Amino acid sequence: MAGKNEEVLVEAFMTKRSQNKRTFTHTNWKERWFVLSPKNLIYYDGDKQSGRRKERGRVELIRVVAVESVDTAVFQRDFVFQLCYLSEDDDQYVLYIAAPTAQDREQWLDYIRKLVADNDCLSDKYHQGAFIKSQWSCCKGGKNTIACTDVTWTINHNNNPPGHPTPSPTPPNGLPSDMNPAPKIVVALYDYNATERGDLSLRKNEEFEVLEQDQEHWWKMRNRQTGMEGFAPSNYVRELGTPDIQQYDWYLGDATRQRAEVFLMQQEREGCFVVRNSTTNSGVYTLSVYTKQSHPQVKHYHIKKDPEGNYYLSQNIKCKTIPELIYRHQHNPGGICARLRPPTLGRTAPATAGLSHDKWEIDPSELNLLEELGSGQFGVVRHGKLKSLDVAVKMMKEGTMSEDEFIEEAKVMTKLRHGNLVQLYGVCSRQRPIYIVTEYLRYGSLLQYLRNKERILLNNTDVLLDMCLQVCSGMAYLEKQKFIHRDLAARNCLVGAHNEIKVGDFGLARYVVDDEYTGSGGAKFPIKWAAPEVLNFMRFSSKSDVWAFGVLMWEVFTCGKMPYGRMKNAEVVDMVQHGRVLEKPRFCPSDVYNVMQQCWNANAENRPSFNEILRMFQDE
Ligand code: ADP
Ligand code: MG
Repeated sequence: MAGKNEEVLVEAFMTKRSQNKRTFTHTNWKERWFVLSPKNLIYYDGDKQSGRRKERGRVELIRVVAVESVDTAVFQRDFVFQLCYLSEDDDQYVLYIAAPTAQDREQWLDYIRKLVADNDCLSDKYHQGAFIKSQWSCCKGGKNTIACTDVTWTINHNNNPPGHPTPSPTPPNGLPSDMNPAPKIVVALYDYNATERGDLSLRKNEEFEVLEQDQEHWWKMRNRQTGMEGFAPSNYVRELGTPDIQQYDWYLGDATRQRAEVFLMQQEREGCFVVRNSTTNSGVYTLSVYTKQSHPQVKHYHIKKDPEGNYYLSQNIKCKTIPELIYRHQHNPGGICARLRPPTLGRTAPATAGLSHDKWEIDPSELNLLEELGSGQFGVVRHGKLKSLDVAVKMMKEGTMSEDEFIEEAKVMTKLRHGNLVQLYGVCSRQRPIYIVTEYLRYGSLLQYLRNKERILLNNTDVLLDMCLQVCSGMAYLEKQKFIHRDLAARNCLVGAHNEIKVGDFGLARYVVDDEYTGSGGAKFPIKWAAPEVLNFMRFSSKSDVWAFGVLMWEVFTCGKMPYGRMKNAEVVDMVQHGRVLEKPRFCPSDVYNVMQQCWNANAENRPSFNEILRMFQDE
């Protein structure tokens, strides 16, 4: 047995070279009992027959960069092969192992290659020699010199079912010679603590077999180690073996430029970097790098692709995959501002769609209510805890909304999920007043935030624009889901602990029964955010949301001024109907104001969509 529950694929005595990880001094060769499992190569002092054996080390196969044989001349030893891998801190090490025979070496190479064939970090180059006396014996390069020799086997992605090697024609001893078609295996990207019966906790990097994926956001899975089964959020796992950038802590997904900057500024390390999706071009990635050169700042680079499909940042380093490209730049600045260093702080786990696989009804006794956060339209909002999860609880003033209809809709709304939308977790609907339980955002409403930070923000147009684009991303998602917000405004957006902006209160306006709010003549109706067709015919659409978004941009660029100042509603309606719009805020760049004006096109059809607005502000 390899570990407690590890499946043994092949095992044998072999000798390994000691690894003095930094300098390779004082080397010697020791006999170890090697065990290959689907996930690790582990070596022990003593074999399984000897009563007390001790693990001496292991290499996680997912971290393997190259598996190659080593020429006899290098160590004056026969049948040596090497396993080049990334350590926890993303340094690269090489494990040299001498097999007893040439045939054994071929079998181990073959077998390990099948297990690592889908690794994202696989390199198409390696050092044929070894690092001896401060240089690579093959190319005479220094420690960080890029590998010099092409690998000897074809890296054949997607050929093998993830995690399950195709059996070799002559499997080494102890290998099952026949394997069933592989079930879908996923790896946890984040920890997840199950709170409800029927749900399953996840620990980062654990593997799970997917049993059911009928629900988009909650999959039934079985932990491959413990055998425990249950539902867990599908956005917390990635498929094993699929080349997937999500597994890297440096990948921030849909994070915006501003979030990447805040994240990197916190870390304050030269070369610290993240990769994120380009805000506008799907399938395009942006590299953001912290540097102190000249002054502390974050630089952004588009990762480009050549006609052969290779990724590159500068002409001299081109790679098949992004992880490989990043890896190369970790060892060589290669034309960008610094040698890359991965972030040390973790990413935050995304919100789950609802609280559990089948739960939008929350038992109020599970809620621990804390301080009041504010009050608005619908009543009081309080901070709360649901087990260990921070939540905001909206206690809906009785008589302000048609509750039954809302409760039906809430089931749909728990399924909306985007990094720039306030996640609805569920409702307490069996009591009055009903509670709406959502994600908690530390800095409260965007409007208040803008007003509080006016002095810092007012002429910081990059940050302000980024806030707008975050809102725009959330809205582009709603637009795609054909979901109309109906009450988009800075007061209905919230600011999280990492200064991320999320859109809240989407769709709620439909369930308000208060006449003052629902009719465009009512005192509480948000006239100043309403498009002409809403004022005239109550015709709501994603394009009326776009109009409101233009007003929100204006609020952002004035740091929370009231649109149209003290003008009365009737005057505003008159003004809008005569085609007059808000003036350009003092510090607003003209291209940004131009977008606001496009949002305020009298003809809804001529306004850009949210998606088009995002495209207008592509990264450099
Ligand atoms: P409004 O009518 O201003 O939109 P809301 O009922 O939506 O009123 O919210 C009232 C206040 O409660 C907000 O201004 C904000 O400060 C706070 N708040 C609401 N939701 C949250 C949340 N999810 N996290 C943190 N604070 C919140
Ligand atoms: Mg609100």
